[in-house]
Amino acid sequence: MHNIAFLGLGIMGQGMVANLLKAGYPTTVWNRSPERCLPFVAQGAKLAHTPKEAAQSADVILYCLADDAAVEQVVFGPSGVLEGVRAGQVAVNMTTQSPALSLREAAAYQAKGVDFLDAPVFGSKNEAAQAGLWIVVGGEREVLERVRPILQALSASIHYMGEHGKGAAMKLAGNLIVASQLHALGEAMVLATKAGLHPSDVLDVLRVTDFKSPIFEGVGGALIARNFETYFALKLMLKDANLIAHFAERLNVPIPASAAIRETIKAAVNHGWGEENASALIKALELQAGVQVRA
Ligand code: NAP
Repeated sequence: MHNIAFLGLGIMGQGMVANLLKAGYPTTVWNRSPERCLPFVAQGAKLAHTPKEAAQSADVILYCLADDAAVEQVVFGPSGVLEGVRAGQVAVNMTTQSPALSLREAAAYQAKGVDFLDAPVFGSKNEAAQAGLWIVVGGEREVLERVRPILQALSASIHYMGEHGKGAAMKLAGNLIVASQLHALGEAMVLATKAGLHPSDVLDVLRVTDFKSPIFEGVGGALIARNFETYFALKLMLKDANLIAHFAERLNVPIPASAAIRETIKAAVNHGWGEENASALIKALELQAGVQVRA
């Protein structure tokens, strides 16, 4: 069985590592804030003190970090992953990041004889904890086949999208829809509330109609209970909105609705709600409308 290194024990990484340990993989963990490693060390994981040390310990190196800057630091930085790798390993990056960075990583790993996949995920905290993620993969198909059993221990399905960068591109296209749905839910709930409708009656309709969505179902109830506990931080959704905007610009693709949504997300982060759940973007819409949506 492959030795695994996992770097980045945030909301998503914690669930994934728990499932790797459950599946019996010998796993070494590293996290910038080392205290997050301790519960996994108690369950049998080994602790690495640097990304380099984690990479040296493993056959397959997985990481799920916040953003491009974190990947720059952890992979390319001092005592980073690239300093610890050796030929024959596979590196799998599950971060939501720019496709251009995936291409740069692929080239840097190739120079060291290491295979690379960009393999970001759909699903959130619960899907990570329950091995129910949907993984979208860019890289060589044969490399995916070599690590498929590991990814299967984390996921409900795995989708091969094409060469390096295509997993990252698919993730951005999907998150464009996630942001649109959250924003549409927010606008509709604010409008309906100001019109005098009861928010829970509105949600009852949204749950069953031919435009229902698991996102409305998952977020709607918490939203009207004013519960913004973080499953996917609003600041990370702004990071993704910025990635989508730059990616679309590079391809000369107009995304007018997403451009407007990015402004709402920006405003909500500027109001101080970036650490809360992405659904907290509704608070910016509420402010503009002078109404609050609550059960
Ligand atoms: P998170 O809870 O904020 O965790 C972020 C992780 O990145 C932590 O381990 C953090 O370390 C590390 N990190 C941040 N900046 C760093 C730096 N400069 N150097 C080293 N490590 C750094 O985020 P998450 O929700 O798990 O998300 C992780 C990735 O998955 C993101 O790209 C996100 O967009 C994507 N994603 C998230 C969800 C979701 O629902 N949450 C769903 C799909 C995809 P510390 O512990 O030291 O802060």
